[in-house]
Amino acid sequence: MTLFVNKTLKSSIYVGFFLSSLSTAVLADEPPIAIAIHGGAGTIERSDFTPEYEKAYRAKLKEAVEAGYAILAKGGESLTAVTAAINVLENSPFFNAGKGAVFTHDETHEMDASIMFGKNRQAGAVAGVKRIENPINLARLVMDKSVHVMLSGAGAEQFAQTQGIELVDNKLFDTKGRYKSLQRVKAKMLKSELENNTAKGNENYQAAHRALDVEYKVGTVGAVALDKQGNISAGTSTGGMTNKRFGRIGDSPVIGAGTFADNNSCAVSATGHGEYFIRYNVAADICARVQYQGKTIAQAGKEVIFDVLMPIGGTGGVIIIDTKGNMSLPFNTKGMYRATKSNTTPTYTGLFKDD
Ligand code: ASP
Repeated sequence: MTLFVNKTLKSSIYVGFFLSSLSTAVLADEPPIAIAIHGGAGTIERSDFTPEYEKAYRAKLKEAVEAGYAILAKGGESLTAVTAAINVLENSPFFNAGKGAVFTHDETHEMDASIMFGKNRQAGAVAGVKRIENPINLARLVMDKSVHVMLSGAGAEQFAQTQGIELVDNKLFDTKGRYKSLQRVKAKMLKSELENNTAKGNENYQAAHRALDVEYKVGTVGAVALDKQGNISAGTSTGGMTNKRFGRIGDSPVIGAGTFADNNSCAVSATGHGEYFIRYNVAADICARVQYQGKTIAQAGKEVIFDVLMPIGGTGGVIIIDTKGNMSLPFNTKGMYRATKSNTTPTYTGLFKDD
């Protein structure tokens, strides 16, 4: 049985808010399996999509969630389901991860990713990698094959080579659309004299980013999954933010901020304005509310996304799963690319707040 709860909450600085929760009733003698994915939250509105464009996005989300689900259905581990789903999204130019990664200020691509296993809180992450086709797979290798949690830049790539991962040309990630976005962002920041904002301190840096359309900051991908063994996992992969510079790293590779998983509470993958997600430790905060305050994932997610982040201007969303297979996908932006599937609910895809 599927239960969707769609609520329009009181508006303040944003046009609309959306909260969708989905509960799976567990079949009598079958362990629950479930997966949720996202492809970024931001200015995603029906009026911006042609029917073909919308169809193509939904098809890619469906392909990704079903790739992950197929692994769970065969009894595979949630970690493997998470990487399989994320790989589909990383390999698509539609999303800001892997192939579709945004451009940095210097016209390159720097990618971040992380993964975490709820059974034992093992985790792996990479930050600022330039030559890794599927950063989530490298994050998994950091977790499985190194004694560390997070590797960065050239060192991470050196580690990748020791694991037999071929380095690719950074130009592989060039796409015309992202290049145009970079030019638009640069023009906009120059126009508002915000280009040199970092010299003026953090407040101006935050203001500069707030001044950009959310369009320039979205597209991160992620997945959370529950396997037959009752273990949950979370993973996130991103190109970060358009026009980022000085080696900026967002929340996506930060365990506790962009990604978190613990069988005692929940698994979360986040997308949004990373600086806020880091400062408010978003993924771990949601799970802490579940573990220590006995909140449901829907309550905890709503509180952090709407009550904590929104008042301070933190835009974005999360996907959450628990060990019963409940899923919740709250976001405080106009839309979020998302999809779910479980052994009790068919494939669902959503883009807009009223989906
Ligand atoms: N959270 C990502 C970052 O700040 C961006 C996004 O989710 O779109 O790097």
